[in-house]
Parts: sequence; C-alpha cells; structure tokens
Amino acid sequence: MTEQIPFPSTDKLQLPAILLPQLKVLMQDWGKPAFRAKQIIDWCNKGILDPDAMKNIPGDVRDTLKDKLLCEPLTLIRRECSTDGTRKYVFALKRGRFAGKMVESVFIPEEKRGTVCISSQVGCVLDCPFCHTGTQGFEANLSAGEIVAQVLAIKADLRTEPISARSIDGDTLHSDITHIVYMGMGEPMANEAAVHESIALLMDEDALHISRRRITVSTSGLTPQIERLGELHPVNLAISLHSAIEEKRDTLVPINRKYPLQTLRECLNTYPVRKQRHITLEYVLLDGINDQQEDLNALIAFVNPERERVNLIQFNAFPGSPYSGSSKNHMKAFAQELISKGIRATVRRSRGDDIMAACGQLKANTKADT
Ligand code: SAH
Ligand code: SF4
Repeated sequence: MTEQIPFPSTDKLQLPAILLPQLKVLMQDWGKPAFRAKQIIDWCNKGILDPDAMKNIPGDVRDTLKDKLLCEPLTLIRRECSTDGTRKYVFALKRGRFAGKMVESVFIPEEKRGTVCISSQVGCVLDCPFCHTGTQGFEANLSAGEIVAQVLAIKADLRTEPISARSIDGDTLHSDITHIVYMGMGEPMANEAAVHESIALLMDEDALHISRRRITVSTSGLTPQIERLGELHPVNLAISLHSAIEEKRDTLVPINRKYPLQTLRECLNTYPVRKQRHITLEYVLLDGINDQQEDLNALIAFVNPERERVNLIQFNAFPGSPYSGSSKNHMKAFAQELISKGIRATVRRSRGDDIMAACGQLKANTKADT
C-alpha cells in the first residue's frame, strides 16, 4: 500500500527541474560560490542527483542542496531486464500527497539508437479500452522534475551497467540515450505545462541538450494542446489514431468524441513538420475490430502521405484485456496495402513484452493493484 512507504512529504524545488542560470542565483542566495552551480549541473547530466555522490562538491554545499531542494524526486523501486535488452524501471514519487505513487519508464536499445520511453502521469486521465494504463484510472500529473528525473535515473543506470544483450543479428546495442519518447504512462497533452517544461529542460544546452528532432510526444489527439505544442516546442508528433472510422474511434479512443476526426485532420494539417520528417499515426491492430477492409479504406482516405506515416502496432495483451491482436501475417498484409497506395507504413516490433514493458502494458503496481 502506498501509505506504508516512508517517503518524506515535500513541495521543494526539484533539482532536475533547475537550469544553470537559476542554480547560480540560488547559490548566491544561499551564500555559496556561483561556480559550484556548473559542477552540480555536470553531475546531474551524468544522472547523479544525490549530492553525497557529487565528489568535487564540499560538504556545506551538499548539505545546503539537501536542505533546500528535493534533489532526487524519484526512488528506483525495481528494474527488470528483458532478454532483448529492454529495461523497465519502476519509480516511486516522493512529492507531498503523491509520495509512494509509482510510474514506469522503459529503455529500448537498438543498433543505432537508445530510446527512453517516459511517463507523464500516474495512470491516465483518458480511458482507451485497449490500454492497460487506461484501465488504471488517473492518479497524478508528474512534475517536470519527475519527468526529467526518469531520463537521468536511466542515464545513471546505463553508465553503471551498460546493455550487454545483442540484437537478433548479433550486433551490439546502444547503451546511450539518444531519443526520448513520451509514450509511457499517461496522456502528455493532458499534463501540458509540466510536459512543456520538461521538453525545455531536456533540450537545454547546459543540460542534456537533446535535439527536438529526437523527442517525440505521443498523444491520443487533444487538438488545442497539439496546436500549442507546434507553436512552442515543435517536437516530433505521434497520434494514437487506431481507427479512421468515427464510431469506432469514439470507442477505441474516447477523446474522439470531444475532438473528432475532422478536427484532428485540420490540426494535423497545420502541425509543423520538417523536411524528410513525418507525423506518425499509431494504429494498433485489433483482430476483427479495426483490421477489416472498411478500416483499411478509411485509413487510406484519412492519411496525407506527404506529411504522415502509419506505424502499425502489435496489440500487447494484458490480464483481462477484452481484445486480441491481429495475426502477424494479417499485419503484414495490412501494411502492404497501405504501401501499395503510396503510404509509408511500418510494423512496430514489440519490445520487452516478457517484462510487460511494451506499449500500453505499463501499469505500475500502485495501491489499486495491491
Ligand atoms: N497517451 C499517449 C501516450 C501513451 S500510450 C497516447 O495515447 O498516444 C503510447 C502508445 O501505446 C499509444 O500509441 C497507444 O495507443 C499505444 N497502446 C496503448 N495500449 C496498447 C496496447 N495494449 N497494445 C499496443 N499498443 C498500445
Ligand atoms: Fe491514456 Fe494513451 Fe492509454 Fe489512451 S492509449 S488510455 S491516452 S495512455
């Protein structure tokens, strides 16, 4: 039960949400030399947030940091490693009344990239029926510090213990974080302010300095928020489409009732897309539900092949899920049909499903589960 976990209650500023200029000012306010700020940020960038592990920082500054800030907003509760190299991390929050609530993040190593999949909420405000997180209900919005801390904790873990698994072709896999996807638990666009702040923190040149081309926000389609994302932080966009037929999408992605396909269409038409880049339309193939000829026809009619591509996702089952996934052959045939119409289509290989780390399987073992 969450109440039993003895974490302190705190509303302090969180270290991973502080940028260098702000930390310099804080240092001066605390009567400490401003140059220490850069040294502390360098530790943070290595994933080290515990002041006691910051070797070149004197004891009085460490004590001040611990006293004034919440330096490590997350506690690593568990790490699970898949045979394919994927790692799932379960973290507990420490903040105030959310102390003890759990979120999950995943590191997905590939030959040419290492992707961190981060959570933006505990549970989700929305309730797509094919999604494990959606069945959990909503418990909390993460703060920007908690979102960034997921990336930093994984960075530290990868430094301590690099990925040793090999790809199916026997190639070495990336042990560095090159890409960030907001595809873990929660609907990022329903936690807009913290997600924007976290993107700015991840991109900051004194911090991890991750290019916006390597950051992807996946959303079920909150169109006003998508427009603001395009204006403020035009990162890569992925949309949980799952059906291009209104009534079906109303059921599969219930936010469609508020922002129907035509509204989504207009929104996607104006989202900034760089040359050689595309908006990704995510489509989980559910046997007999959204994988029929009429579904294909509607999808072909919906997609703008110039600016969008389709990512077909294998359904990841979870205990009690009411759906089953389409067969691999059917997925391939579906993809081929799209390709024959000039639409870029890929089939997403499921990673880490032996540790329930695959898309839509994330559901931390919170109070609701115990
Ligand atoms: N809330 C956001 C991001 C988190 S979900 C969104 O919906 O886009 C990340 C991706 O996993 C989405 O494309 C979502 O539709 C997909 N997903 C959810 N449940 C799934 C499941 N059981 N199997 C496969 N993909 C799933
Ligand atoms: Fe939330 Fe995305 Fe799951 Fe829908 S698919 S319930 S929006 S996490």
